Amino acid sequence: MPSVRGHAVTDLMSRRGHEQVVFVADADAGLRAVIAIHSTALGPSLGGVRFRDYATDADALDDVLRLSEAMSLKAAISGLHQGGGKAVVRWDDPDRPRPQVLLDALGRAIDDLGGRYLAAEDVGATTADMNGLARVTPWVTGVDEVHGGSGDPSPVTAYGVMCAMRATMAELDGEPTLRDRHVVVQGVGHVGAHLTRLLVEEGARVTVSDVFATRAAALVPALGVDVVAPDLAFTTQCDILSPCALGGVLDDVAVARLRCRAVVGAANNQLASPGADARLAERGILYAPDFVVNAGGIINIAEEFVGYDRARALEHTAGIETTAAAVYRAAREQQVTPARAAEVLARRRIEVEGADRRWQPGDAAAWTNGAPLTRLRPEI
Ligand code: NAD
Repeated sequence: MPSVRGHAVTDLMSRRGHEQVVFVADADAGLRAVIAIHSTALGPSLGGVRFRDYATDADALDDVLRLSEAMSLKAAISGLHQGGGKAVVRWDDPDRPRPQVLLDALGRAIDDLGGRYLAAEDVGATTADMNGLARVTPWVTGVDEVHGGSGDPSPVTAYGVMCAMRATMAELDGEPTLRDRHVVVQGVGHVGAHLTRLLVEEGARVTVSDVFATRAAALVPALGVDVVAPDLAFTTQCDILSPCALGGVLDDVAVARLRCRAVVGAANNQLASPGADARLAERGILYAPDFVVNAGGIINIAEEFVGYDRARALEHTAGIETTAAAVYRAAREQQVTPARAAEVLARRRIEVEGADRRWQPGDAAAWTNGAPLTRLRPEI
């Protein structure tokens, strides 16, 4: 049995409840990858393909096990009929385009799983990668819109973040309104810029910050927002801080300096350590778990397989307000942090609704509630 840092791979899988891990190598194609299926109890596993310069197979395996489990929780808390999966590819430079021969080899490995794993874009992956995979397998999302894909998910993700903010204001002040509230958005890239626009439309006062000063400044003339330097974003007094840049931003030092009433942002894995949510609670800062807040991205993708419709994707994404409210309520009732409450709710749904179920290729009709799968074998 292969082992990683002294642990049998199957022990690492069992600890987190993974169903299947597939190691893929194709020397001629230059492919070295690991695909992890954490759970298919609620439906086929979905998750991004990450191209990264992993130093060792152990690093790649650690990442794929952690990320695929997180995808299961995100899909479950969002009410999706999907599980969690992930693929990581050892690739020296994420900016170096992937040759088709490599995408063919990875696509074949994904195809062999018969739909138990659905590939999606991740940080570093591109629509071109997804188009490339789709030449060999139908089990891929995020392809170009002309091929039935859903296009840029960022506006939908941003809308979901705003819905979570409404629930947050209801929890804090009893009213789900952002009017006259002050929101600081850290990072105005794809999601942050859309979010800023939505917040201004809602009547919020918005302060933005970006390491690319021109990105922040570009929003000033049209939207009348304020700008702060990146090192001041976390210490600016506001109602809501919205991390929309990088993960791992909430460590003990950062939490001690915050001057906000709540944190509600799109960035993945914002909590830098397992105890960071407790530190936030001790300071009386309400933390909206990132995997609840930023689920608009996968809710959007889930629409692809039944015929993509952006209006319906937005309608489903609006449910994030209800989900966030349920998480806050559970946290209050159980006297735990919202992050803990969200994880418990997600795991309970997997246990109750998905008890003893494993998705099989023949389950497609049941998974879409009878609607036909429209994205089978696109002609790309
Ligand atoms: P992006 O790269 O387009 O934007 C990130 C922005 O943050 C950039 O403008 C960058 O210059 C800025 N930035 C980086 N470090 C900063 C710092 N220290 N201070 C201020 N600004 C900083 O990325 P995105 O697609 O907008 O995604 C933002 C976050 O949301 C990421 O963590 C991503 O994983 C997560 N997310 C995105 C989506 C989506 O639909 N795009 C879905 C789910 C989660």
